Amino acid sequence: MTAGRAEAMLRDWLADGGTEAIAPRRAGDPPVVGTTRVLDVADLGRGVRLVLFEADGVVSAAPVVTGPDGPSRAAAGDGAFEAIAGLVREGRPAGGVWPRVFRAVPSASGERAIDVDQSNRSVVVGERLVVKLFPRPGHGPQPGEDLPAHLAAVGFGDVPELYGSVRWTVGDDRWLIATVTAFLPGARDGWTWFLELARRAIAADDPGPASDAAERCGELVARFHVALATPSAVLDGAPLERAGVPQVEAWRTRAHALLDDALVVTPGEHGARLAALAPRVRDAIAAFGDVDATPTQRIHGDLHVGQILRWDGGDAVADLDGNPLAPAPERLARQPAARDVASFVRSLDHLARIVQARDGAHPEAADRWSRAVRRRFLDAYRTALDDAGARDLYDERLVRPFEVAQACHEYVYAARFLPRWATVADLALPALLAELDA
Ligand code: ADP
Ligand code: MG
Repeated sequence: MTAGRAEAMLRDWLADGGTEAIAPRRAGDPPVVGTTRVLDVADLGRGVRLVLFEADGVVSAAPVVTGPDGPSRAAAGDGAFEAIAGLVREGRPAGGVWPRVFRAVPSASGERAIDVDQSNRSVVVGERLVVKLFPRPGHGPQPGEDLPAHLAAVGFGDVPELYGSVRWTVGDDRWLIATVTAFLPGARDGWTWFLELARRAIAADDPGPASDAAERCGELVARFHVALATPSAVLDGAPLERAGVPQVEAWRTRAHALLDDALVVTPGEHGARLAALAPRVRDAIAAFGDVDATPTQRIHGDLHVGQILRWDGGDAVADLDGNPLAPAPERLARQPAARDVASFVRSLDHLARIVQARDGAHPEAADRWSRAVRRRFLDAYRTALDDAGARDLYDERLVRPFEVAQACHEYVYAARFLPRWATVADLALPALLAELDA
């Protein structure tokens, strides 16, 4: 069959409801209800096509292969991720899909899915590359491209190296479809490696090695923030800016909105308990009002223990795409480093709450562990900033209010994506408020 005939058949199939079959889905995503429109079909070669389509006003991307039973969404093993890596390696566009090459891509073949909870779809190619496909491509500049490029420019090496990316391009519009990064051998994320330490430590009621790990994370995150606040030719403007009252007010408004959302989406017992705590949450959010000027810079934006990969070569900060639920302008905006710190210390507490819920650990042992590792993380972070002469990038006053906002976000995340996470949110918030009252 000619390529033109194959594409015509694929387009017929897409028009006939095929877009529904290839639409990216996560639990909680609404079904496609309105009309779908195929925007482009790019032939990547080797029988793989990348379909870009719009459904309910949202642009989606799906790799498609055609087998004996007709077209289907490509899974690991079907060659689509190899083909994407191939475009970047060869620096060759396919229709409207253009590669950006940051470094020479080693050749690699064989695909293996990554089996953890993911917002996007990452596939390991040839045990050398990670090809991450964004089912909901972002329009315009994206942090997943400019932050790795900036970090490479300032010599920060503790991130997976970015080889390149592919963008779908129409006129001046560019959508980020996929990134190709170096695979880190032996990598496990913190929801695995740190959770194991937490389980053992809480069972023994002795923070021990988990606390050392928290110290290493504090030092790593501090160096990461210092690197992000170092000028380079990649990022425009001053790396460190100052935000005034209007911006701080916006963060406060956003925190209240998160609480409101959490109240709306949280059913049952969890919702009732959250409603009872809401006035104290609002009081805690009011602490934003104590700040009238504060440093801002590019940050990670979705920093938690799951983003710290422990691999054969050490620890690395991964997933620089920012909060997958936030629009690109917010993910590119300069924000307080304290916001990353807050989300990270929340995730340390979440480890304790997971152990409490799953292993039936005593709440007081979980509390003690959580307090010890968070203190160790914060001390190490501050010390490393001091050593780097960069203490001025960090405004500690914002950590608590951002933590409270993050605690509200956890309920929303649970409702949208991961229902069992509601148990963690429900254990974490009362413990946080009790600390604030103490
Ligand atoms: P998402 O945006 O879907 O959260 P991540 O970039 O966090 O995607 O990657 C998801 C998982 O894939 C990580 O938790 C980790 O287990 C694995 N992973 C990501 N990047 C690499 C890499 N460069 N090397 C090895 N494993 C990786
Ligand atoms: Mg991630």
